[in-house]
Amino acid sequence: EKHSDCPVDKDTLGRSTWNLLHTMAAYFPDKPKKEDQKSAEDFLVGLSKTYPCPHCAEDFREDLKKNPPVLKNREDFSKWMCEMHNRVNEKLGKDKFDCSRVMERWYEGWKDGSCDY
Ligand code: FAD
Repeated sequence: EKHSDCPVDKDTLGRSTWNLLHTMAAYFPDKPKKEDQKSAEDFLVGLSKTYPCPHCAEDFREDLKKNPPVLKNREDFSKWMCEMHNRVNEKLGKDKFDCSRVMERWYEGWKDGSCDY
């Protein structure tokens, strides 16, 4: 890709970050230890302070206060992440994602087999 070795813009940064966040949630333990929950929470709080788009980071911090992460298990964390992303989608006038399909998108691959190779 032509610009793949250049500094990233806001949208590329966003897509890369969502790749990491949704995949992190999709691989979160089904039975997390207290320590797993603390690591995930610390990561999100840290990211919300260092995310290199200041106005995005500010909204992210507000959102985390209003909607603390649900770290009970993989499914709940993935659903929480999906809803968090949907709040950003809504703010940006993008379509909402169907959170009942979040594990298909980020863990199993679509049921139609389009991710199989
Ligand atoms: P993205 O929104 O990047 O989504 C990537 C892919 O994720 C989609 O193609 C879809 O397959 C999947 N997806 C979409 N929605 C969901 C969901 N709800 N759950 C699971 N999967 C989903 N940009 C701004 O301009 N202003 C901001 O304030 C801003 N705040 C941000 C805050 C955070 C924490 C992050 C990570 C990003 C933020 N961004 C912001 C970037 C923005 O969210 C998008 O990443 C960017 O606009 C590119 O959008 P996109 O349409 O390519 O898809």
